[in-house]
Amino acid sequence: MAERVDLIVVGAGPGGSATAYYAARAGLEVLLLDRQEFPRDKPCGDGLMPHAAEEVSLMGLGDWLGEPHHGKFSGFSIYTQTAYLRQRVPPTLHGPHGYVVAREETDARLVERAREAGADLRTGVRATELLRSPAGNVTGVEAVSGGETLHYEAPLVVAADGVGGFAGEGIKAHQNSVARRQYFKNVSGPDKQDLHVFITKDMNEHGAGYGWVFYFGDGRANVGAGVSTKTLQRTGRNLKDFFDRFLEEPELAGWLDGAEPEGPAKSWSLKMGMWGAKRYAQGLMTVGDAASMIHPISGEGVGYAIESGRLAAAWAHEARAKRDYSASVLAGYGRQLRRKRAREHLSGYALTNLVPNLQIMEPFFKACEKDPEARRTLLEGFTGDAPVYNLLKHPSALGRVVKTALRL
Ligand SMILES: Cc1cc2nc3c(=O)[nH]c(=O)nc-3n(C[C@H](O)[C@H](O)[C@H](O)COP(=O)(O)OP(=O)(O)OC[C@H]3O[C@@H](n4cnc5c(N)ncnc54)[C@H](O)[C@@H]3O)c2cc1C
Repeated sequence: MAERVDLIVVGAGPGGSATAYYAARAGLEVLLLDRQEFPRDKPCGDGLMPHAAEEVSLMGLGDWLGEPHHGKFSGFSIYTQTAYLRQRVPPTLHGPHGYVVAREETDARLVERAREAGADLRTGVRATELLRSPAGNVTGVEAVSGGETLHYEAPLVVAADGVGGFAGEGIKAHQNSVARRQYFKNVSGPDKQDLHVFITKDMNEHGAGYGWVFYFGDGRANVGAGVSTKTLQRTGRNLKDFFDRFLEEPELAGWLDGAEPEGPAKSWSLKMGMWGAKRYAQGLMTVGDAASMIHPISGEGVGYAIESGRLAAAWAHEARAKRDYSASVLAGYGRQLRRKRAREHLSGYALTNLVPNLQIMEPFFKACEKDPEARRTLLEGFTGDAPVYNLLKHPSALGRVVKTALRL
């Protein structure tokens, strides 16, 4: 006999753990499946923006965030081809700090919170497909574990499987960016209380991308680079090549002189901007990367994965209370997520996809050096705390972009 629960969550990354945590706390019987064993690594910049830190705190991990080996940042240093911008975390963001915590640790903590709330975690279990009734309604999940095929029954499934796409082509969103990161010891750059972001010519003359150095509290740093898949197509180059050239950028090469790599560089793909993903269907919701919930400019997705999981859990509760798992009920989840995040995500997606390259923004970056209001707006666009069309509030700085573009 197949096991039967109220909700099956596929994937125990931040999105799945949050869904399982909130749904179990709301009284649902929850099965949380992951193909991997925890703790496990996930290639990431490990940055938790203030809003992500707030989500982690809401799951009862606020004190843990402050542990000394975690990085704690209070500002941003942005290096472009022509400008250097330094900005404290603006007061409109969700608190004065963000954190840098290795995902191996974060995800293990979040999954533990889900278990403590009552979710039944099964690791080493890979979901292979959705099970459906003859009428087409979702009835559960087929999975494999240790060579054995397993069936789990539930009227509702949340796909939190990142870029996995287990729920099928109609649900899976395409990847639109790729990124690579490596850990280093003894990186000698300045201002370790900042997140360092490098908008280099190499990554932006034919598309969009950036490199980063995010410091932990124990002398290590996460160094990485990410570019849009369009950038790869236009240049014919691969991600490793962009990453390796980033490490050779003169400023960064100086910081890395004498630094020691810890383990190999690792790459992963990103699904960004709420673009191309289906967020609900009969008996199904998607959260986190499975729902394309990565901000298209910052590449940040942990906070949005947790937030979408929190909202999906509320709609799972609603559906169970009504005994109605139809698309029309679950559409409430899609609407709520759109209302909360679509302006910032879709406008960011438009900027990175409609302009031929981000290099044309250089005059704006330069103007931001002397214009604190424009700088703050730029940063809020980067972090996803405001839509990028807020840049239109700074016509004189933006005018320089238009003038330069017209001269090209
Ligand atoms: C290099 C890089 C740097 C990044 N930097 C940042 C950053 O600094 N800050 C930030 O906020 N975001 C960052 N992101 C984005 C962030 O990593 C993702 O948005 C985040 O991991 C999304 O969480 P998730 O729970 O949706 O998916 P994931 O974390 O990918 O978790 C999915 C889980 O599903 C499991 N799974 C997959 N398929 C199946 C299956 N069929 N059956 C069972 N289990 C399955 C996997 O084992 C995994 O545990 C970065 C991404 C990359 C690639």
